[in-house]
Amino acid sequence: MTAFGTVFMPEMITSEYNGTQWSQPAVVPSDSLTLHPGAHVFHYASTCFEGLKAFRHEDGSINIFRLDQNIRRMAQSTRLLALPEVDQALLEQMILEITERFAGDVPEPPGSMYIRPTHIGTEAAIGKAAAPSTTSLLYVLLSPVGDYFSGGSGTLRLLLQEEGMRCAPHMGEVKSGGNYASALPSILQARAEVKADQVLFCPHGEVQETGAANFLLFDGDEVITKSLDSTLLHGVTRNSVLQLARDMGMSVQERDLTVAELLERAAKPGCEAALSGTAAVLAPVGTLIHQGKEHRVGNGEPGELTTRLRGMMNDIQWGRAEDPHGWLTRVV
Ligand SMILES: *Cc1c(COP(=O)(O)O)cnc(C)c1O
Repeated sequence: MTAFGTVFMPEMITSEYNGTQWSQPAVVPSDSLTLHPGAHVFHYASTCFEGLKAFRHEDGSINIFRLDQNIRRMAQSTRLLALPEVDQALLEQMILEITERFAGDVPEPPGSMYIRPTHIGTEAAIGKAAAPSTTSLLYVLLSPVGDYFSGGSGTLRLLLQEEGMRCAPHMGEVKSGGNYASALPSILQARAEVKADQVLFCPHGEVQETGAANFLLFDGDEVITKSLDSTLLHGVTRNSVLQLARDMGMSVQERDLTVAELLERAAKPGCEAALSGTAAVLAPVGTLIHQGKEHRVGNGEPGELTTRLRGMMNDIQWGRAEDPHGWLTRVV
């Protein structure tokens, strides 16, 4: 099987901001872009992106999950990076148009079409380290993806890291390229030294998130996850899973969680932990590594609640269950 996100539809949709207005969206080949090597994005990281998915239902319709939330977050990332303001209606139109164009290529469940809107500063001006790009390019790539769990449904090993942080604390809520590069040295070191799958960043002993997913703890009828602030990405999956947990009558606690409390709770039988994000929905965490010691979460196996909540999300996404919160947008 090919790695997630390495296959692309042959065309994408683009719109350029010329300093005054957005151009009419154009469908163009997706294998290349022509940019000046001095473009702002290459030097000063004026770039943000989104990740959302379209799903094929049994009736043949194609439906995008939480389109509005992802568009809103893209507009917010754009503002926090001082890129030219995104026209949200235009972006919605672009996503719908390119998804409709490749509707026939949206994989059957358990696959889906991953949608990657991207916004970059294009002005050729290497003197603008302290000034925004006046021009930009918005484009939407499509990548058909298979079952995230096809490699087996094992559990993840996370290294709890209390020193350093994933990215600058005022940038955590921005889905921007530089944040991922800044987290990489920690992740590579954790892989090499303790065979961790991911680093759970816990600056000053407070549990935050991993390099590209939010962290949730399930203990009895309690769900505990960090409350939203500028230091972490405000995941749409996190928000959706918390809503379903509330619907089930669970006690949802968005609050600070210390490493000490996490390790104490994780040791209890029946405790579960998971990472949330668009790619996997919920991925079970089996082991927490802290100061050279390995701690199993519950019995170390994928938890019942994690599996159940992921199933509930998948059922809504694939049209097998009601969509009580109106999370799907029908494309065709
Ligand atoms: C994208 C992302 C998430 C998950 O967000 P979703 O909207 O659920 O896909 C979490 N953390 C980081 C750092 C991310 O980039």
